[in-house]
Amino acid sequence: MDYYALPIANLVDQFSKLPGIGRKTAQRLAFYVLEMDQQEAERLSAAILEAKEKIGFCQVCGNLTDKPICNICSSHNRDKSVICAVQGPRDIVAMERSKEYKGLYHVLHGTISPMENIGPQDIRIKELLQRLGDEEVKEVVIATNPTVEGEATAMYISKLIKPLGVKVTRIAHGIPVGGDLEYFDEVTLARAMDNRREM
Ligand code: ZN
Repeated sequence: MDYYALPIANLVDQFSKLPGIGRKTAQRLAFYVLEMDQQEAERLSAAILEAKEKIGFCQVCGNLTDKPICNICSSHNRDKSVICAVQGPRDIVAMERSKEYKGLYHVLHGTISPMENIGPQDIRIKELLQRLGDEEVKEVVIATNPTVEGEATAMYISKLIKPLGVKVTRIAHGIPVGGDLEYFDEVTLARAMDNRREM
C-alpha cells in the first residue's frame, strides 16, 4: 500500500470497515472526500461526531434517540396496549415504514445465542418484563428475525410473559426462514404483523 500517502491509506482503511464497503468502494469514497471543499468535509465529520455524541438509547424502549424518551414512546397517538419486541433499532424503522403497526416497541438489542455466549441476561428481556408490570400492556408481539436464534429468543420470552396474563403473539406469515427483518418490503412486513399468531 506504499502508493498511497499515509493519510489517504488511513481514510481508505476507515471506510473499508463500514458494512457493505469493499476495498474499491472505500478508495472511491476516500478520493471523493479529498475532492470535497474544506467546509463540506467538515460538515461530514461534524455530522458523524454529532450523531455519536447526541444519540443514545430511549430509557423506555431502547430505541435510538436524541432525547431521554424517544418520539414513539412519548407520542399520544400510539396504542399503548401493544408492545412489539424487535432485535435492533433498525427493525423499528422497517416496521414504521410498513405503516401497519401503531403500538409501542421494545428493542432487545440482540438475541439469545449460546454459540456466541449471549444469554437471556445479555439482552433487554428484564426491561421488557418490567414494562409489563407498570404499563397497561395487553399484548406483546415478538418480531425477532425468523432465524434459529430469533425463534429461540421468541420462545424464551413467551414462556416468561404468558404467566403474567399478557397475550404473546409472533409475526409469522410471509417472512422467509433465515431472513432479516430490516430487509423485508413494507407489504411483507405489514402482512406479517396482520397475521401474527398467538404463542
Ligand atoms: Zn422509546
